[in-house]
Amino acid sequence: VGDSSSIDKQVDSVCPYCGVGCQLTYQIKNDAIAYVEGRNGPSNQNRLCVKGRFGFDYVRHPARLTKPLLRKPGVPKALDPSFDPANPLSHFREASWDEALDVAAKGLMDIKARYGSQSLAGFGSAKCSNEEAWLFQKLVRTGFGNHNVDHCTRLCHASSVAALMECLGSGAVTASFMQALDADVVMLTGCNPAVNHPVAATFFKQAAKAGTEIIILDPRGQALDAYASLSVRFSPGTDVALFNAILQVIIAESLYDEAYIAAHTEGFESLKQSVAGSTPEAMSELCGVEPELIRDIARRYATADKAMIFWGMGISQHTHGTDNARCLISLALACGHTGRPGTGLHPLRGQNNVQGASDAGMIPMVLPDYQPVGDAQLRAAFEELWNTPLSDQPGLTVVEIMDAIHAGSVHGMYIVGENPAMSDPDLHHARAALGKLEHLVVQDLFVTETAQFADVILPASAWPEKDGSVTNTNRQVQRGRAALPLPGEAKPDWWIIQEIAKHFGLGWRYTHPQDVYAEMQQGMASLNHISWERLEREGSVTYPCPAEDAPGQDVVFSDAFPRAGGRAAFSPARPLPPDEPVDDDYPTVLTTGRQLEHWHTGSMTRRSRVLDALEPDAVASLSSGELHRLGVAPGEKLTITTRRGTITLAARVDSKIPDGMVFVPFAYAEAAANLLTNPALDPDGKIPEFKYAACRLTKEAT
Ligand code: SF4
Repeated sequence: VGDSSSIDKQVDSVCPYCGVGCQLTYQIKNDAIAYVEGRNGPSNQNRLCVKGRFGFDYVRHPARLTKPLLRKPGVPKALDPSFDPANPLSHFREASWDEALDVAAKGLMDIKARYGSQSLAGFGSAKCSNEEAWLFQKLVRTGFGNHNVDHCTRLCHASSVAALMECLGSGAVTASFMQALDADVVMLTGCNPAVNHPVAATFFKQAAKAGTEIIILDPRGQALDAYASLSVRFSPGTDVALFNAILQVIIAESLYDEAYIAAHTEGFESLKQSVAGSTPEAMSELCGVEPELIRDIARRYATADKAMIFWGMGISQHTHGTDNARCLISLALACGHTGRPGTGLHPLRGQNNVQGASDAGMIPMVLPDYQPVGDAQLRAAFEELWNTPLSDQPGLTVVEIMDAIHAGSVHGMYIVGENPAMSDPDLHHARAALGKLEHLVVQDLFVTETAQFADVILPASAWPEKDGSVTNTNRQVQRGRAALPLPGEAKPDWWIIQEIAKHFGLGWRYTHPQDVYAEMQQGMASLNHISWERLEREGSVTYPCPAEDAPGQDVVFSDAFPRAGGRAAFSPARPLPPDEPVDDDYPTVLTTGRQLEHWHTGSMTRRSRVLDALEPDAVASLSSGELHRLGVAPGEKLTITTRRGTITLAARVDSKIPDGMVFVPFAYAEAAANLLTNPALDPDGKIPEFKYAACRLTKEAT
């Protein structure tokens, strides 16, 4: 905490990092953030983690873009190891906004004219505000003329959303994580909240201290194990086998909630038949959990009066990610653990606005509020709102767009705030695709790895420079406020998107994000009774909200589910192996993810002095036994090879990683984990298998 007597002004806003959505106050001195304090928001109650407290100086980093840039003629579209993002003029030249916007938009329009409307695509970002996300997807749908718009939800919880939509009729959480305080049992699986949702983790700790039983199911150990009544490690990639065995016990021992199932669900008989053979004895060897332990998990969860399930990308980032989530939904439905305080299903959303950007329609197969593109009646409502005919063909997803570039059907892209040259699986393939684009426009804060492939780079706004709304993992729509002036000639993202839209002849005339929000309310029933004025006044309102003067619903689906007939559906799943099982040549499981200190591809946190000082180097974490076997000492270099690539980085001992596994964070460009990852997709969520690739570990040759 700094010295408040020397502060010029205080601005209330929201943290730009994870989906917890902590409310905070910027303390501003001389147009700079002197320090940040947590506020009493519903999801943080004054708390902040290390990122929310110390991760803001990226905003004024010397490499921050302050002028539009155009690629110099003849500079190859490839990553150049000698390129310095702080001195981009070796590869780019500065341009005026008029020239840059002209080149950016004309390049895209020229491609549309030559190859047709399916030849363009857009990646937005979960770092966009709701209003920016709305404008971006509207530009793609009404200007580009297709639905090829996606963002990092595809790489995070697309499979969870697919399963929730199918089974419950809604892709959002059924209850906030604060409800954990009211639960008797909290099951955490495939998530590591102390690292990825640190303030949410404090609620789980609080619950445990007050008597809530915490059950953790994960291939890896974690800090919250210390608070758990039961912490069970299972073999990577065998989630469905474990969950089916738990379901089998619940059914065989009649622990299910017959009345709830009869009143609120359909398809229980098919679930019963599907898991009948999945006895703990039958599944034990596959998932690596003793039969009695499986029975113990089942009994604890099913016999609780109130229980919740939280999950993260350990569940979703598999080729069977949708099946994993279907099983968790079946568990909750079978035991009647939804619709009441202290019960629910909660995929912990990753980025600060991945919920809001998805709600606002930055998804290729659905319009805002998850209205299917292929439904003529629903599409007609947006055609009327936007006064433009829309394509009836769902668009391409993140990885599919990269494949389409290689296949010669997508030729131009507009990328706002996303960094696929670091975040996509199989980076050699993704980077080659970016290099093939005839025209690439990137809008960002820095010359990211992706921007190095761009023809035009547009200097955008950082979160502390923006006005707008964001929606966190709890469905809480929150007001973000600009605290800092934009540096140099950087512009608000909504303004830049609008200028591109004007070149496409769309005639937009928004003067402030508030205008955009007003239009969103016309197309998104989820925002009913949540006016801009109300957000201004209250700071945070949960959707759905029954009235302008009533609070939003923290727990939903008490009476009915938003499906035909009001019933939720069981959707059975059967165990499938990972796409690329380990074998003699590649005997170790590679799993990737985030660190507490570094956010996603590191474009912000690696330019944040405190955070980068805490974790300055790329490391591979593995067990001491594994390191001993390899003859590698902690700190020595280790080479990791998969069928797609090789990286070398320092080895770190981590007792929480099981033998036979290595964990690599994906924030480090110098040892990019995604050079190694498998692009195989879940068939429903179209999410890649970031959590399991077969790899080989070797000591770096000296
Ligand atoms: Fe920001 Fe998430 Fe940390 Fe809260 S928990 S301060 S939202 S990164």
